[in-house]
Amino acid sequence: MRIRLGPDGMHLFDRQSGLNVLLDEVAPSEHAWSSAPRQVSIAVTNACDLACSYCYAPKHHAVLDMNYLLSWMDELDQAGALGIGFGGGEPTLYRHLPEVCAHAAENTDLAVTMTTHGHRFNADLISRLRGTVNFVRVSVDGVGNTYERLRGRSFADLRVSLDAIAADFQWGMNSVINQDTVADLDAIAALAEAHGASELLLLPEQPTAGTPGVEQKTLHTLENWVLSYTGPVPLATSADAALGVPIADALPGEVGLRSYAHIDASGTARTSSYASSGVCIGDDGVMAALKQLVRMEAA
Ligand code: SF4
Repeated sequence: MRIRLGPDGMHLFDRQSGLNVLLDEVAPSEHAWSSAPRQVSIAVTNACDLACSYCYAPKHHAVLDMNYLLSWMDELDQAGALGIGFGGGEPTLYRHLPEVCAHAAENTDLAVTMTTHGHRFNADLISRLRGTVNFVRVSVDGVGNTYERLRGRSFADLRVSLDAIAADFQWGMNSVINQDTVADLDAIAALAEAHGASELLLLPEQPTAGTPGVEQKTLHTLENWVLSYTGPVPLATSADAALGVPIADALPGEVGLRSYAHIDASGTARTSSYASSGVCIGDDGVMAALKQLVRMEAA
């Protein structure tokens, strides 16, 4: 089991089962706290074969060099990170994905997750990722016609992919909630349950340069739906979702860059994928860039 020390105590984590145990009666001194963020999302490529209108991923060509990525993963592991989450763009379009996942499984204690549209999980890709990815997050915004209109892909094909993913990986469903998808919440939860999802992550649409984000009325509908939900699939949301419902926060002392950082496909470390500025990761490595980012945020 991985041990991470921080302001909330001693955190034990098992990447195979996803079990988290916090010993909050332990009070590690500050100099012993793990220096890496608990979780780091990494956009391995900006490329995507879908064109969702609400996509916030940068559209310029960028893809991470595999050797840099492997060295950053080693650094994050040694500095106490618990997990990395590959995204993009579409991470399954990154041709080195199986190698980097295998590296994480064999040479680090990092839990590997990825966020994907799911349509490229064929038998070949699954056989190359099997045993090296701890959790797959599949983006499913709406069902049936809503899904096909927003994602431009067959909903029936998605369900085939969900079955294939569920057969080999623990998986969860990510759903962007906006004016188009909020009416599908019951059906989204039913889909997650039918395909054995371990979690339903509800993501109110964030504003971007070209889109205003979720409307207040939609947010209230989502809040009411969450409060009345009695289904078996555990619900989750993002830390910045600002839903007006009680949300468990097991690690309240581990905030900001202690909790989370993002690396974009150009190799820039940021506080989140939405942050407008960041620090380019240089030859001195990812931890040096993250320390500089901490200083920038404090200034
Ligand atoms: S699948 Fe994801 S990365 Fe691709 S266009 Fe849609 S939102 Fe963007």
